[in-house]
Order: sequence, then C-alpha cells, then structure tokens
Amino acid sequence: MADQYSEAADAAAIGKKLIKQHHDHLSGRRVEFLFVERLDKDGQSQAIVTKGKNLYGKAKLVTGLNAFLASELDSEARPFFVIVITKHFWTNASQEFKHALVDHELQHCWYDSESDRCSMIDHDVTEFTAIVKRHGLWHHDLDTFVKAAKQKSLQFDKEKEAESKPVDTKRGLAAVPSVPAP
Ligand SMILES: [Zn+2]
Repeated sequence: MADQYSEAADAAAIGKKLIKQHHDHLSGRRVEFLFVERLDKDGQSQAIVTKGKNLYGKAKLVTGLNAFLASELDSEARPFFVIVITKHFWTNASQEFKHALVDHELQHCWYDSESDRCSMIDHDVTEFTAIVKRHGLWHHDLDTFVKAAKQKSLQFDKEKEAESKPVDTKRGLAAVPSVPAP
C-alpha cells in the first residue's frame, strides 16, 4: 500500500513554538508539517526504514513545478519547506523526543533574507560509531559535537539533582535529612 499523508497539527504547534525560540529566520515563511504513515496489508502502522536506519522525519524544500502546483497555480509561487514526520515513531513518543525531532528537522531549513533564498542545511556531523571507537574524535566537527553533548548532559544531571532534592517549602531550601545521633 502506498504511504499515506495527513496534516500533523500537533507537530505544527511544536514547530511554531520552536521557530519563535530558535529559528527566527523562518518566521513568516511557509513551513508545512505532515505525517507519513506506512501500513502493512492488515492496516497496521509500520516503521519506515531507509538504508537500514529508522526514518523519524525528513525536511524538504519544495520549489519550481511542485511549488507552483502546491500554490493553486500562482505563477509567483514561492519555495516553501515541508517537514514530514513518520507517524509510527511519533504517536507514542515522549514530548522531549517530539520537540527534538521537530527542532532537528527545522534546523535543516534555511532562509536568507538578504538574498531572499531558501536552502537546505546538512548535518554538522556524519560518522560511524565504529570509527569513533577506533580513532576517537579525529576531526574538529566531531570534537565540537561531543563537547556540546557533554555540556548538555552536565546541565541535565544538575536539573535532575535539583529535582530529586526534597525542598523545605517554608524556607524554600533543600531539606537536610536529619541524622540520628550515634
Ligand atoms: Zn536530519
């Protein structure tokens, strides 16, 4: 059965928020959010796998004839972005996953206001786990990537630590557990 497309309103709502926060250049640009779903012969939702990897989502720039056809045949049709999310991986995913996925796909979309041009941006890092195991962080982009990941997990640990401390609401301080006298 052919893949089925539908509007992804909740992904669009997350996208709208993220554009304001992190992708200001996309404010006022047309960005469409769609789900794609692959069903097996029994109508069950399937994972979409390309080149052996789960396809969580994809960003595309629609230009030329496709933009013309998608704009009710307006001869001035402007290029626009489409974020296609694989429904199979979305439905039961956490909010953190959903935000990271939409943010990731938006990061691929670039609009340069000076030249009035839309373009796609590739990933900062493409690497094999096996190569990192054998050669470590052998180039600058990898090093930058891992430093950013370490920074984020440090921040995450601190947040978790803060959450797990019991708080004395009267004083607004972390309560110190009382230790019985020996
Ligand atoms: Zn990507």
